[in-house]
Amino acid sequence: MSATNYNPYENAQAQFDKVAAMLGLDEGTCQLLRQPQQEVHFTIPVKMDDGTTKIFKAFRFQHSTARGPAKGGIRFHPHETADTVRALSMWMTWKCAVVDIPLGGGKGGVICDPRTMSQGEQERLCRGYIRHLWKELGNTVDVPAPDVMTNGQHMMWFMDEYETITGQHVPGMITGKPVGLGGSLGRTEATGFGVITCLNEALKKMELPIEKTTASIQGFGNVAEYAARKYTALGGKLIAVSCWNATDKVAYTFRKLTGCNAEELASIKDSFGSIDKEKAIALGYEVLPGDAWLSQDVDIIIPAALENQITPAVFGNISKTVKVICEAANGPTTPDCDPLIQERGLMLVPDFLCNAGGVTCSYFEQVQCNMNYFWTKEEVLEKLDSAMTKAFLDVYELAQEKKLYMRDAAYTIAINRVANAAKVRGWV
Ligand code: NAD
Repeated sequence: MSATNYNPYENAQAQFDKVAAMLGLDEGTCQLLRQPQQEVHFTIPVKMDDGTTKIFKAFRFQHSTARGPAKGGIRFHPHETADTVRALSMWMTWKCAVVDIPLGGGKGGVICDPRTMSQGEQERLCRGYIRHLWKELGNTVDVPAPDVMTNGQHMMWFMDEYETITGQHVPGMITGKPVGLGGSLGRTEATGFGVITCLNEALKKMELPIEKTTASIQGFGNVAEYAARKYTALGGKLIAVSCWNATDKVAYTFRKLTGCNAEELASIKDSFGSIDKEKAIALGYEVLPGDAWLSQDVDIIIPAALENQITPAVFGNISKTVKVICEAANGPTTPDCDPLIQERGLMLVPDFLCNAGGVTCSYFEQVQCNMNYFWTKEEVLEKLDSAMTKAFLDVYELAQEKKLYMRDAAYTIAINRVANAAKVRGWV
């Protein structure tokens, strides 16, 4: 099966069903939690710069609000699908639950390609999204955030339209805003840094000092860049980075066997996380095919780009030297790879635990907005590090105690917390 044939929603449901059966959850709870509790599908008409009107398909799904307001990003992607958004909204529920923050799960998406749209067209798209959806959103209802190909500027357009319509200042209705305008210090770094906090804890348990390890990363967007920065700052040697090249419409892997410099690569990437090929060559990087990141002789692979990247078809390409798969992206590994990972005895840091630093910091941002009092970057990153360390250790210890696969242990903790909230509320 090729990567594009996998349906992320079916993956998310398969992962849920497996653990729900292990936990012996009753039928009502299973039905409640294996699908979003609310779905809004709509269209956004946007006046384009050339005078035509283009209609964009958009979504906002709330998977569960049992533990608090729905929380999750809005993605802009030309290949966005309702099922991807469903899966991601479900993963947000588990993510908030595994790090034990009082939020539920949601996700939004628009089928569009911001790389081909002007700033004005993107602003009108964002405002149109909120004009349609504002009643379903809010500080205590559903709180969006950035995701693939959306950023702080998009969040400000969303927020401004919401505040204009409601006539109040509610910066806590959305997170991922620029610092100084309701954003939290540390949010840009949070997801990538959280990935490396988990990785470092895993390596400690494996008695592998991080400074003696090598890694390869897929992606060089927000998550991957800061994961790369933190990993190399802690002494890890990054061998390869793969990313999409919009000009050539193909992915490339940039490799430097003596170690990639994350800061240097960041200085030659665009705002969509594409590294400039010519500049990379000039800096001494080898340019390899896009999938070469997976087959490098490293200790750690960090998929940090898209879903469905590690499938049984490519699993054999993973070097025998690899000991850890650190899932920074959402759903990068298909469920039929789980038995293969277990057979090879690899340490897995599962996605919704691994990349929970972003939502944890978003929660901190919301708290700061609600208090109208903002913390220093050190305070934020320290709180983030403690939350991620605790979440990793909870999962690791349960996995050890019950002899569970790491993904199943993370699901066990998350599903139990959400199922319990639904039960105590009297929903099931
Ligand atoms: P981004 O848009 O900033 O970056 C995406 C990166 O993936 C880019 O470098 C792009 O070039 C690369 N890419 C795209 N197609 C590729 C391909 N075929 N091969 C190799 N690289 C390719 O996105 P991001 O915010 O860094 O998010 C990455 C992943 O992490 C997504 O799965 C997202 O859902 C997840 N995530 C993001 C956050 C966050 O805070 N940004 C939080 C949790 C999870």
